[in-house]
Amino acid sequence: MATEAFNSKTLNDLCSDAFEIAKQNGWHEEKRDFGTLIALMHSELSEALEAYRKDSEDVMWPHITEELADVCIRIFNACGEYELDLETAIENKMEKNKARGYKYGGRRI
Ligand SMILES: [Mg+2]
Repeated sequence: MATEAFNSKTLNDLCSDAFEIAKQNGWHEEKRDFGTLIALMHSELSEALEAYRKDSEDVMWPHITEELADVCIRIFNACGEYELDLETAIENKMEKNKARGYKYGGRRI
């Protein structure tokens, strides 16, 4: 379970935190190209897929969960650097999805 301090944070707080941590670790001495940041998000999803493909049953889900955390942290970091309001975007998109109907109007997947 996450700590109380962590649970009191907003998504945009997490974006700022991820950016600050990356900055402290030397990853933002210059503004990073947004395409590179997206590629790094992809790389974490690929690591999750590799865990699903190769890990033994006893370690697979914890490993996948860690890689999905990495995906979120990469996204938070990019939103922190580019000052994107992820929180409002997610709220708006979820409201939009609610209204899209059964399988979003008949899509197969
Ligand atoms: Mg990773």
